[in-house]
Amino acid sequence: MIDETHDPKRRSWVESANGHADFPIQNLPLGIFSPVDGDPRPGTAIGDSILDLRAIAHLLAVVPGEALSGTALNDLLARSPHERRALRQRLSALLSDQQHEPTLRTHLHDAAHCQLHLPARIGDYTDFYVGIHHATNIGKLLRPDTPLLPNYKWIPIGYHGRASSIRLSGDPVVRPVGQRREPDSPSPVFGPSARLDFELELGLWVGAGNPLGEPVAIADASRHMAGISLLNDWSARDFQAWEYQPLGPFLSKNFHSTISPWIVTMEALAPFRVAQAPRPEGDPKPLPYLWDDADQASGAFAIELEVTMTSLAMRDRDVAPQRLSLSDARAMYWTAAQMVAHHTVNGCNLNPGDFLGTGTLSTDSPGGLGSLMEMTLAGKAPITLPTGEQRAFLLDGDEISFSARAETRGFVTIGFGPCRAIIVEGMGHYRSVDACDTITLL
Ligand code: CA
Repeated sequence: MIDETHDPKRRSWVESANGHADFPIQNLPLGIFSPVDGDPRPGTAIGDSILDLRAIAHLLAVVPGEALSGTALNDLLARSPHERRALRQRLSALLSDQQHEPTLRTHLHDAAHCQLHLPARIGDYTDFYVGIHHATNIGKLLRPDTPLLPNYKWIPIGYHGRASSIRLSGDPVVRPVGQRREPDSPSPVFGPSARLDFELELGLWVGAGNPLGEPVAIADASRHMAGISLLNDWSARDFQAWEYQPLGPFLSKNFHSTISPWIVTMEALAPFRVAQAPRPEGDPKPLPYLWDDADQASGAFAIELEVTMTSLAMRDRDVAPQRLSLSDARAMYWTAAQMVAHHTVNGCNLNPGDFLGTGTLSTDSPGGLGSLMEMTLAGKAPITLPTGEQRAFLLDGDEISFSARAETRGFVTIGFGPCRAIIVEGMGHYRSVDACDTITLL
């Protein structure tokens, strides 16, 4: 629902917000931060600053104070969209009307000096696979004749991931150690992953939950979605290839996932909802529980996604990051509402703060791929960095950074903040294990 908070003419008395690439007053994302010498608390990003919501909870009486007093946003996510919208309207009024500046100024903190935390306690993390071009590209590498399995166009494919290893942007990723089997070898070897990859995804924050046994109807699904962050679902392709049959990914995925710190709310994203791309001719119409005309009319997101990379050598020589990909959230074959409806149709209960990954989002063009696996054709065609270095997969010291922009004509563009991490060498004590062979690139 579009209201005055989306007005492109609205400006903030926080000067850095006006024209800010990520956090103009039209965004107002929610997160958890600690100011210098302070404890964690809820905040909203405004320009280069963070406004302390706990400190001004008495001015935000549209939601109960306890929803703004904890060290995680679960209670706030559990509130109705109506209440979150009222909070947004109040925040937008406070930050645009100059008369509130004297009261609020002391509760604004320079974001550069704050520490950010995971915005919510993530009880469960599910990873879907709705990026159809990614699924097709990966499928082609495995099964050139039938890249998509027959269930793909009937079911939003997903699996249960691991919530405990989700970390905030900036935390280094330790290269995982495990089993892999070389193509012509009868037995596996043990050692650091030699095929470490990133996956460009969006993550959907669940708002209000549903009781066990009570599915969320697709027409109600939007009431259970609170917001979106960026997600890098790091993947060890060599472990994955060996372990995934018959039950799906396990240690190849659960060692670390990186998310951006801010929850960009569904209310902020309202102007950027667009029609879901029509299914190509010949594709089946989904079963009724997955179909809603209103969802088809506005269930997709006009969000552009970018991946950049630096190597250690690039940073040493001050070489600018190399763009690896410019992708788009409209590559989702299934909508977020279809993901929620499918997840709960068997009675499975979602809880506030649960996190649903979309799966890797690649476009159908070579410049819009969401993983190295696709870009390098499973390592056969390495990319070249400005330093002349080549990469089939990630080496220690490489940094992958995601950014995103929700953009549409007539509205102010909003962003998500950074989602980045550096790969660091695997756990030292494994180095002495005899069976641990060295990393080979190609
Ligand atoms: Ca994934």
